[in-house]
Amino acid sequence: MPCETAHFRPADSGVLVAAALACPVCLSSAVRWSLLGGRYDRRASCACTACGHERDVFLTPEQALRLSLHRTCPLDLTFHSPDLLTAL
Ligand SMILES: [Zn+2]
Repeated sequence: MPCETAHFRPADSGVLVAAALACPVCLSSAVRWSLLGGRYDRRASCACTACGHERDVFLTPEQALRLSLHRTCPLDLTFHSPDLLTAL
């Protein structure tokens, strides 16, 4: 089983975090995730609600902290253009 790591920065907007956790099989962003692991193997267990694909995505401590803030408060999926302007 391949090892997948998350590709978002802790300060990224919610839409970029959701894109990083999107399903690699059908590209759906309808993914349920939960945090698992301990101090050295933090990961998000992801399940796609569109196709059923399941996978674990390993996280840095900062990424895990970011996701932990969204256990009760969903990610803001509103697109914020300043993220793109900062990247340029
Ligand atoms: Zn899927």
